[in-house]
Amino acid sequence: MPSFLSSRIDASAQASSAADWLALGLDQALEDALPELIQLRRHLHRHPELSGHEHQTAALVAGELRRLGWEVREGVGCTGVVAELGPAQAPVVALRVDLDALPVEERTGLPYASTVQGLMHACGHDLHTTLGLGVARLLAPLAGDLRARVRLLFQPAEETAQGARWMLADGAMEGVQALFGVHGFPSLAVGTIGVRSGSLTAAAGELEVEVIGEGGHGARPHQSTDAIWIAARVVSGLQEAISRRLDALHPVVVSFGRIEGGKAFNVIADHVRLLGTVRCLDPEVHALLPGWIEDTVVALCRGHGGEARVRYREIAPPVHNDPALTALVEGAARDLLGPGQVLRLEQPSLGAEDFAQLLSAAPGTMFRLGLAGPDGCTPLHSNTFALDEGALAVGLKVLTLSLLRWMEAGGLPAPEARR
Ligand SMILES: [Zn+2]
Ligand SMILES: [Zn+2]
Repeated sequence: MPSFLSSRIDASAQASSAADWLALGLDQALEDALPELIQLRRHLHRHPELSGHEHQTAALVAGELRRLGWEVREGVGCTGVVAELGPAQAPVVALRVDLDALPVEERTGLPYASTVQGLMHACGHDLHTTLGLGVARLLAPLAGDLRARVRLLFQPAEETAQGARWMLADGAMEGVQALFGVHGFPSLAVGTIGVRSGSLTAAAGELEVEVIGEGGHGARPHQSTDAIWIAARVVSGLQEAISRRLDALHPVVVSFGRIEGGKAFNVIADHVRLLGTVRCLDPEVHALLPGWIEDTVVALCRGHGGEARVRYREIAPPVHNDPALTALVEGAARDLLGPGQVLRLEQPSLGAEDFAQLLSAAPGTMFRLGLAGPDGCTPLHSNTFALDEGALAVGLKVLTLSLLRWMEAGGLPAPEARR
């Protein structure tokens, strides 16, 4: 049997589910590593760093990886860290985790709560970083047997959707044939994961609209062009246009989160600025949206006597999960956790994830890791967000076995044929 680790897996062990995992002693290795990994994650939780400023986190990650014998590059895409293990000429399989925290004041009351005022790991990236280091630890003793080169990407600035672009520009995805990723998911119970083939998250953009009118006296609006009235028409008119002019089978969400304009209660405003976000699942619809929004907004403003300036900035394209790699993760997770613990997510999310940028360089898949303990789990980005640490072992198992099985399949994206 052409197994990448055939010397370490006997034939009888191959017959049982997750045999490769057990035969390699990974269960024991995980058990041995867990107490330290939990402490590590708590340390990261105590010391969150803002997007693009993950200096201490990156230094800790790089030091730990070097200690484990990985080849490490620091400063890849700002504060990103890239580590490699395995034969130099072999196909490259990658795992991406993220490093950054959020400008949120923690209110969990946990003994290992953030010690940095106004900053918190409220999206669980401390868990993701620990997962990356955990995989590094489990694979390190197998270095001589690996049939692929494993690359770990510790990415900065996910929350600002900049880090993936930075790392991509710095060559972090060069030569990568398959990419795996993970994000914690508060609405799934710990011990379970969610997978989805195809679209997982939405394309996201930032929309800025400037409405330009002409100021005047509040008593005589007919002698001016009221930018506040026109801005109100833009806010409601855009929603109406979406429902009447775009295909409802391809949902588009536009939400304005900020509006500023006007100086006094009795003065007609000559200028209003609107800031919003745009979400969309279909890449083709998303490609048309900036032009369509601009045309619609300009027409609305001109129809009421004003002018408009529209700017659209793409934040992230949609995450599209490769079907074969998703099936590989699903198979590994079913064997490790039991079939009932692996859920196929019916719906994608309109949230955004800059993992999508990395997928422009290689096929990949991201799965959702259950975080909810017996009492549930508060939402991501909330100041009381607290995950069940049992998720660490679950994520580590699924990620490590997925990487090993990708190698065992010879790097071929055809797990179904192999199993
Ligand atoms: Zn987040
Ligand atoms: Zn996140």
